[in-house]
Amino acid sequence: MEEDAWNDLIGISADPPDRRDKCEQCKRPVVVCWCPALPQPAISVASQIVILQHPAEEKRSLRTALMLQLGLEPGKCVVYKGKRFPNQKNQKELEGIFNSEQTLLLYPSKDSVPLEEIDRSKGPYTLILIDGTWPQAKAIYASSPVLHRLKQVKLIAVGISDYIIRTQPTEGCLSTLETAAQCLAVLECQPELRQSLVRPLHTLCKYQLDNGAVEHQSKEFLMKNNQYPKPIGKRLSRLLNYSNTVCGAVPLGIEQET
Ligand SMILES: [Zn+2]
Repeated sequence: MEEDAWNDLIGISADPPDRRDKCEQCKRPVVVCWCPALPQPAISVASQIVILQHPAEEKRSLRTALMLQLGLEPGKCVVYKGKRFPNQKNQKELEGIFNSEQTLLLYPSKDSVPLEEIDRSKGPYTLILIDGTWPQAKAIYASSPVLHRLKQVKLIAVGISDYIIRTQPTEGCLSTLETAAQCLAVLECQPELRQSLVRPLHTLCKYQLDNGAVEHQSKEFLMKNNQYPKPIGKRLSRLLNYSNTVCGAVPLGIEQET
């Protein structure tokens, strides 16, 4: 009897876990930390990723840019925040990047060429991604003339997003992490890179789904299959019927112009 009580007592943790405990690295509550899914050791690449992030994106997203930063060797993914670039905070650092011949901008314009067709022997490259919704990305592009001079590229081979918690605006849209991972796989000629880099996102999605999050199809899929709750207008309906082929090439979780 006494021994049982003793056993119960030693079973009690001296310092019960605080639910608000946050992981030092990913800043998420310890129970939902995705750090163990990060590649070990961090992946070494010749290319560099530069993310121009809309200030609203950090709040909205599940911080997939951080997964990328932590999955790559230090300095291989840099994030700059703002609504236009360069701005006072980052002018010095970005000047060199914007003036380099080796810099590519991922942007689905009519002039952009498939990343797959870039001459890799002339690398390594610095690839700029704009992180935000399509209207935000378009606004950043419009207010940053320096971006217009850069060589523009797009991704051709994109799959359906693994980022299933957050509804994607169109099929073929990818989270920033998936987009960057796919680009690196192409630039580094290492297809397996994508899988290693997106693993933390899988872990996060799996956790959310196990805990009751609904698996979203993209809004486009839902609307096409009459499952989307909002009634849609004629203009959007036309776009959806037409857009099957264009979406595949749209990076960044953003949709083609409506
Ligand atoms: Zn963590």
